[in-house]
Amino acid sequence: MLVAGAAPCVACTQSVPALKAAPGSTTIGRALTLKRTMTTLLQSHIAGQWLGRQSATELKSAIDGRVVAATHAEAIDFGAAVDHARRVGVPALLKLDFQQRAARLRALASFLTERKETLYEISRHTGATRNDGWIDIEGGSGTLFAYSGVGAADLPSGNVVHEGPPVALGKSGAFMGTHILVPRRGVAVHINAFNFPVWGLLEKFAPTFLAGMPCIAKPATATSYLTEALVRLMLESGLLPEGSLQLIIGGTGDLLDRLDGQDVVTFTGSADTAAKLRAHPNVLRQGIPFNAEADSLNCAILAPDVGPDDEEFDLFVKEVHREMTVKAGQKCTAIRRAIVPRKHLEAVATKLRERLAKTVVGDPALEGVRMGALASKAQQRDVAERVAELARGNRVVFGEGDGFAPKGEGVAEGAFFAPTLLLCEKPLQSGTVHDVEAFGPVSTLMPYDDLDEALAIAARGKGSLVGTLVTRDPKVAAHAVPYAAAWHGRLLVLDREAAPESTGHGSPLPLLKHGGPGRAGGGEELGGVRAVHHYLQRTAVQGSPSMLAAVTGEYVRGAKVNESDLHPFRKHFEDLQIGDSLLTHRRTVSEADIVAFGGISGDYFYMHFDEIAAKESPFGKRIAHGYFVLSAAAGLFVSPAPGPVLANYGLETLRFVKPVGIGDTIQARLTAKRKIDKPARKGQAPQGVVAWDVAVTNQAGEVVASYEILTLVAKRGA
Ligand code: NDP
Repeated sequence: MLVAGAAPCVACTQSVPALKAAPGSTTIGRALTLKRTMTTLLQSHIAGQWLGRQSATELKSAIDGRVVAATHAEAIDFGAAVDHARRVGVPALLKLDFQQRAARLRALASFLTERKETLYEISRHTGATRNDGWIDIEGGSGTLFAYSGVGAADLPSGNVVHEGPPVALGKSGAFMGTHILVPRRGVAVHINAFNFPVWGLLEKFAPTFLAGMPCIAKPATATSYLTEALVRLMLESGLLPEGSLQLIIGGTGDLLDRLDGQDVVTFTGSADTAAKLRAHPNVLRQGIPFNAEADSLNCAILAPDVGPDDEEFDLFVKEVHREMTVKAGQKCTAIRRAIVPRKHLEAVATKLRERLAKTVVGDPALEGVRMGALASKAQQRDVAERVAELARGNRVVFGEGDGFAPKGEGVAEGAFFAPTLLLCEKPLQSGTVHDVEAFGPVSTLMPYDDLDEALAIAARGKGSLVGTLVTRDPKVAAHAVPYAAAWHGRLLVLDREAAPESTGHGSPLPLLKHGGPGRAGGGEELGGVRAVHHYLQRTAVQGSPSMLAAVTGEYVRGAKVNESDLHPFRKHFEDLQIGDSLLTHRRTVSEADIVAFGGISGDYFYMHFDEIAAKESPFGKRIAHGYFVLSAAAGLFVSPAPGPVLANYGLETLRFVKPVGIGDTIQARLTAKRKIDKPARKGQAPQGVVAWDVAVTNQAGEVVASYEILTLVAKRGA
């Protein structure tokens, strides 16, 4: 428990609670809410301890400029942080497996969701409206939920992912090769931007945690008071193994010098800082994976087929307006370049001006406010400078002069910025509009004469996180998207059909890749299980099938099998071993089988029923339906009486390898291939998933059908 007591703040006139850690304790014992009249001294969480008793830099509310928090002055021992992550965090995380960590993520997501109002209250000081906060806070816990689902569905039990299938490397199949993915035995350093203090951490934390790597989070200082509150909640949840999450308030000191090849660095922020960190001598020397997600000049294209009377026209205008005003335009994905047919330029500008004029800017606590402030005065100055640069040679069609008057008490001291729309008449001749990013409510209209010119303008961004194409015509999409894809991490094709469910241009989604080429940093985040793989080491493994089966934890065809009198379907989940196998009795396929199956299924395809056509086919004879072979194999291997197998919920990798003709004799081998232990769920009998390898062979021993069936198998005593 931490005990708060009043002490004078060194850096400011307000009182700062001096925090004293009770012996042996690392958890929260203080109010998380930032009162307008009280400054919170932020603390780093390093090596299991909260660090910080003396304040250093004041952090001000973006709404009214009042000091809301202060960073701590004490130096961080980064050696201790890295050591703690490796020595304590790695083993603690690897005591759990993928499935267990996925379950923890779900519980953590619920825990944070129940406490979201604590974060909302603080979020307001970053300049965020309730809606902006929703993207950050609930978008963050939503990402945890999504990754819990990814872990449960796409990752195995244990801590080894088998990325098969194995390939034979010799003639007899006695020597094979495959790939495994294993957790790296280091720490992930996540350096984040100021604009998403909650989501920014959680979208990086979720795949890292799932992968089994501890992380050290370094939020941007300006809004670190919100991230600190989040980390306190996460630690308070008791769901995180010791050492799995540390927090840096302030700079990274010599942290990057202390990393090695087992570690990972991820970064979100400016292209300049990304370039600097990527070239850090130790990062280069040790081959430390470095993932960057940097600012980019994202675009939206209104396709030439859309006219002012089309629904899509308004969709385009709405999307640009939303991207300018949500989070006051402080999104790495925001639309900075709106590319429109020259003939519709005026109509688009008019509609956008109308919408921008109606956007109420001010203190998010006030009713009716739709756009909040930039994150800090520094950002306000920065955006003003960038807008001045963009305005040189380009026209401001909407800006400060159009009635900008933020609402609320003390807003003059806040970091508000007028929504600003510019027009660049000759975008192919301008460098600035494709290069200078004003990280605020700022966008530039760019006219074009034909679609290829629009695509050329888009490509001038030199690599973006996301682009939107608004069109009614699938042919336009088919032409534009594959070309534009070379410069984009994600592309949204928007029309009236997709609009009602569209998640929008600016929203990175947990299951879709986030990150773009070139200027956007060349990195990749999210994208479902892909993001987890970024924190795992891929290794090729060669050996006999039995060795590969032992290493991967999955049966590999050709490996030794275990046969016994007890049918594998009669074993409970815990008793079933990988490699437990059944070789069935045989069955000769007759013409009557084919006729009966045709009658039941209604499948009278000529290959099964037309002697002449079948003779002229590549098989030269009538053959059995593939689905008959499948069904007959089930009849061969199933153990029909009630038992531990609860359900068969599908099959994968089905191939009909060779035809089965009348008179052929088939036989099946069923082998337990993979087991996924599912953590207990309320209201559900304890169970696990078992994938079975099935090989159906003919009288010559040739495989005629090959697949994997998926079953739910009860645990003992269920
Ligand atoms: P920075 O690139 O300066 O900072 C991003 C993060 O990197 C912060 O946590 C910052 O910490 C940290 N950092 C900066 N320098 C170093 C260093 N030498 N070693 C280790 N960490 C470092 O971006 P800002 O947040 O200041 O924003 C500047 C611009 O970046 C914006 O105006 C915008 O153009 C762009 N941006 C892009 C974003 C994106 O998502 N792509 C998001 C936010 C901003 P600290 O805060 O303590 O300096």
